Amino acid sequence: MAPRKIKIAMLSAHSCPVGDLGAKDTGGMSVFIRELAGELGKQGNSVDIYTRIHDPKDPLLEELGEQTRLIHLRAGQEARIDKMDVYRSLPEFIFNLERYWKDYKLRYDIVFCHYWLSGLVGEHLQQEWRIPFVMMYHTLGAVKNAAAIGEAEPEQRITSEGESIRKCRRILVPTEREKQNIIRYYKALPHKIGITPCGVNLEQFRPVDRASARGKLGITSEKILLFVGRIDPLKGIDQLLRTMTYLQSFKGLRLIIIGGDENSRREVEKLKKLSWELKIEDSIIFQGMVMHDQLTDYYNAADVCVVPSYYESFGLVALEALACGTPVVATDVGDLRNIIHQEKTGYVAADNTPQALAAGIERFLRPNLDARSIQANRASVSRFSWAHVSESVSQELHKALDG
Ligand code: UDP
Repeated sequence: MAPRKIKIAMLSAHSCPVGDLGAKDTGGMSVFIRELAGELGKQGNSVDIYTRIHDPKDPLLEELGEQTRLIHLRAGQEARIDKMDVYRSLPEFIFNLERYWKDYKLRYDIVFCHYWLSGLVGEHLQQEWRIPFVMMYHTLGAVKNAAAIGEAEPEQRITSEGESIRKCRRILVPTEREKQNIIRYYKALPHKIGITPCGVNLEQFRPVDRASARGKLGITSEKILLFVGRIDPLKGIDQLLRTMTYLQSFKGLRLIIIGGDENSRREVEKLKKLSWELKIEDSIIFQGMVMHDQLTDYYNAADVCVVPSYYESFGLVALEALACGTPVVATDVGDLRNIIHQEKTGYVAADNTPQALAAGIERFLRPNLDARSIQANRASVSRFSWAHVSESVSQELHKALDG
């Protein structure tokens, strides 16, 4: 029997899912929320996504697709603000959300919270409105702190995560590894945790002719490595720059780094300085942020996409690259050891030393990709369609409702 259709209030308090991807605080989570909500709506559920106004031009209500709406609520300054300022604005967010529900006589079956900040809202709604809430953290503060790269996450985050883990009805994680992390660092009850993978838009990310992709982008270099993501120390771009020093025998090799907005300027400057120190500045192109729907050409233009992160909860970029047929060389983070077929569709380095990454990259830089390998790379991720992800999320939401 098909599961009954449900009314879902999705919360993404701190970050707007239609915001610019690759900015300091928006990346995989926004893609996940947008694509998943759209699919859940297509399957006949109704989904309202609530986020805070981060720009005075934000419309109060936006139809995103079939039975899928985005609602902006006032909470703090109508601008991009620091996460701890979002934390301090949550009482206003809750106040405006409850007022909206009352004004429009809205009622939901379940609240689905993304990131720890939304969890605090979920706790309140469960208590006051008797609606169960489900958590998806996307990244975990304690795991980030254990990686000890970049700024430490505030104690408030770790405490709040612990509380929502205890109080929520169910926790969704994208990998078995993240399930073990949440048990290890937060003593979560294993039976409360469900694993639902991330997905990739297989219509959008598809192979196109490499020469024409390069032509469109004005790329004339012989060999291209690609990095796509937020410019954050955890992404390991520093190690990728060091890796470039081991690849100097490849004439005309360029590394294109995609991502970063004005808030990432300090981090970009640090990386530029490092590339000068390593004397590889001529081989590095800092492209800045690229719109998600324009990335297909970049993935297709690249010989190898590299994911050198110190921590990923999943690693969406690897799926996008493979869906375009481009091999991926990565560190052993997120779900990459399951996504990448070792030495076939890419390479998972044993550690994130530049030498290990360079060894993997070399294997895939040498031959030119033939049509068969491109198709095999794409086929290896065909199971990650959003329709499939949304079915598995929907099952988990029903488990939460029945529990
Ligand atoms: N992204 C983008 N434009 C950019 C940089 C990143 O659209 O300039 C997208 C990228 O395609 C991917 C997401 O942001 O879909 C990053 O997701 P991932 O899971 O790799 O990293 P996260 O941001 O969640 O740490």
